Amino acid sequence: MRYHIWTEGCQMNEADSLKLAAGLAKLGWAPAPKPEEADLAVVNTCVVRQKAEDRAAGYLGKLRGLKEKREGALQIAVMGCMVGPRTDDLRSRFPYVDVWARPQSFEVILRHLLPEAELGGEFWPETFPEPSGPAHFVPVIHGCNKFCTYCIVPYRRGRERSRAINDIAREVSSVCQNGVREVTLLGQTVEAYGKDLPAGDNRAKPDLGDLFRAIHDTPGLARIRFLTSYPRDMTERIIRSVAELPKVCEHFNIPLQAGDNDVLASMRRGYTIEEYREWVYRIRDTVPGASLSTDVIVGFCGETEPQFERTLAVLEELRFDKVHVAAYSPRPGTIAWRHMEDTVPQQEKMRRLHAVESLQERIAGEINARLLESVQEVLVEGEKDGPDGETVFSGRNRGNKLVHFRTPDPQGTGFVPGDLVPVRITRTTAWSLQGVAAAASVAA
Ligand code: SF4
Repeated sequence: MRYHIWTEGCQMNEADSLKLAAGLAKLGWAPAPKPEEADLAVVNTCVVRQKAEDRAAGYLGKLRGLKEKREGALQIAVMGCMVGPRTDDLRSRFPYVDVWARPQSFEVILRHLLPEAELGGEFWPETFPEPSGPAHFVPVIHGCNKFCTYCIVPYRRGRERSRAINDIAREVSSVCQNGVREVTLLGQTVEAYGKDLPAGDNRAKPDLGDLFRAIHDTPGLARIRFLTSYPRDMTERIIRSVAELPKVCEHFNIPLQAGDNDVLASMRRGYTIEEYREWVYRIRDTVPGASLSTDVIVGFCGETEPQFERTLAVLEELRFDKVHVAAYSPRPGTIAWRHMEDTVPQQEKMRRLHAVESLQERIAGEINARLLESVQEVLVEGEKDGPDGETVFSGRNRGNKLVHFRTPDPQGTGFVPGDLVPVRITRTTAWSLQGVAAAASVAA
């Protein structure tokens, strides 16, 4: 029997899809490259934005046609953030879906396929995903307790639940034996890791720094990343761990969301812009050369022009390496959807979004230009033919910037995914760096 998984949304969903695939493999199922060749099609959904939800609904429509054509010989499962605690509405909208599973409820799908399957307590902890390249995502804390007013995540993924350090360390060791060189530790608020775990004898609860240390010396592992930071969960201790541990990359993704205190309060983000700025300064003092990315929402309920301009001013002042910007879209079920008015017209939201994009293009261009002639360590993830037929390798530097590079000797042996290569940067843009390998790959 064969399955096909379609994944939308964040890295957490990508990790969930790999884990489901590992569970299906344990039950003897094989992957199919497209749903036309599968007995089971899984749709792993995201509803953080309307567009993502629309894409999932469109894809389900396509599967419906396929199922009809094959006279029902295709089972359809939907998992991810589209699936809340109640599925009555979804079942009437998509009656042809066979099984609905909430995020991380993989066993609901497996039990549907093999109702008699014995999925004991050992099944999931020992079911580690097959990595699909040298960089791999490892969820370490699920859910979120914060209830920002615009966000659907806590309703769909539940409260914060950390995985045990040993369980994570076993997964990291397993994927590294299969060629992984870089892991990204994932959580909606990754610095909350450990707050819900028991304290050890005579000591505090484990935190993200302890987790870094527990996996740091895993054979084969070269880099550790972590996503996504939440300002109020950050601690000096975690930031110092990033500075001290050589394999932990000096890159932080800390969502700002807005640069105005009243907008932050109505989003219920739990910090002021002054507090946010303090954390950025502390990181830059403690981790020299750290690269910082952030998320911004424009056009939130009631956001005025002067408030939006304060966001631009903060972006100009703090100068992030990368900004992910989104126009606010109300998500049914959230506090903002229930109690706040979506006042900013769509056209104005798009104008604000483009204003952030063009400001950031200039800032990122200036930041990257300073890397000209520097040597960056790149983890090779892929290659393709350049316009002149020469092979162009690509990967990311420690600061998570995309780097495309060539070998100085086109007749040489080249590189393979997983190699760590020192690359001299010869050209920069706002979006990527380009260069030439400065030496053969180096060991971790
Ligand atoms: S911190 Fe806020 S925005 Fe992030 S997942 Fe939690 S509720 Fe959503």
